[in-house]
Amino acid sequence: MAGRFAPSPTGAQHLGNARTYLLAYWSAKQRGQRLIFRVEDVDSPRVKPWAVQQSLDDLLWLGLTWDEGPDREGAVGPYLQTQRMSIYKRVLQDLIAENRVYPCCCTRKDIQNAGSAPHFDHEPAIYPGTCAGWKHGMPLPEAGTYCWRFRSSEKVFEFDDRVLGLQVTRPSETLGDFPVTQKNGEPSYQLAVTVDDSEMGITEVVRGNDLVASTFRQLQIFEFLNATPPTYAHVPLVLGKDGRRLAKRHGDTRLSTLRSSGVAPEQIVTWAAHSAGLIGSDKKVAHVDEVVPRFSWLNLQRDDVVLEDDWSN
Ligand code: GLU
Repeated sequence: MAGRFAPSPTGAQHLGNARTYLLAYWSAKQRGQRLIFRVEDVDSPRVKPWAVQQSLDDLLWLGLTWDEGPDREGAVGPYLQTQRMSIYKRVLQDLIAENRVYPCCCTRKDIQNAGSAPHFDHEPAIYPGTCAGWKHGMPLPEAGTYCWRFRSSEKVFEFDDRVLGLQVTRPSETLGDFPVTQKNGEPSYQLAVTVDDSEMGITEVVRGNDLVASTFRQLQIFEFLNATPPTYAHVPLVLGKDGRRLAKRHGDTRLSTLRSSGVAPEQIVTWAAHSAGLIGSDKKVAHVDEVVPRFSWLNLQRDDVVLEDDWSN
């Protein structure tokens, strides 16, 4: 049994990320689960080399601990996705051999113009199937001009989310076929995250509710791998006072900035526990572990979380 922290080092971690990590930690600790720290650094043009160490420092500063990670070798490493490329390649070869993927040369614009409108929030247009006629054994387009795209299932998939309850969809209708690699050959987020959650024995995934649609993509890859998917808890995103997803315009909520400007980690832990309804508004938390016995998915505050205070001054 294991949970995980899975930061993307494409930039600094902010208060919204901190809240998700804290919930993941409290849930795992309360169930006596192990925690794995995995760095999702396959999105190469956007990854910032400094952000890996900074994410480790930020989480340690909050008082979080983990059993395995880049700074703490264990049984399921390596912990940086860029060091796990051979594992993703192996799965991709299997996907190709079983005709579950096809090479796709379409551009984002092609899909935007010909695809149908997304069914889920935060999602691109549904792929119209232009390149889906390819079969294993047919010639390939020139290297670098195509991604591998997964043929979405016609079956109905469902999962019981710890926060949102039962989620049901038919991926071929609501999501369409999706890339498992980028055109440069690197694995997509969907492929890397599923292979890792499977190989690392992750049994609980806690992440933002903008990833519900992705979960349905990942469930299809789990099925292909013949692996049991984890339990999912998709938690509300933190919004600014204008009701929009937390971003730069809402002030500087980077943990590294708060840390250097003298904000105490307990303030953040207290805010996260209040906003999740885990402690009364008059209570202060001195250490993350104090919240563990109070944690319960059943009692979690499920509404959107609006960041009321300005943390940047
Ligand atoms: N790396 C993603 C993020 O930082 C999380 C993805 C996941 O939990 O599956 O938003």
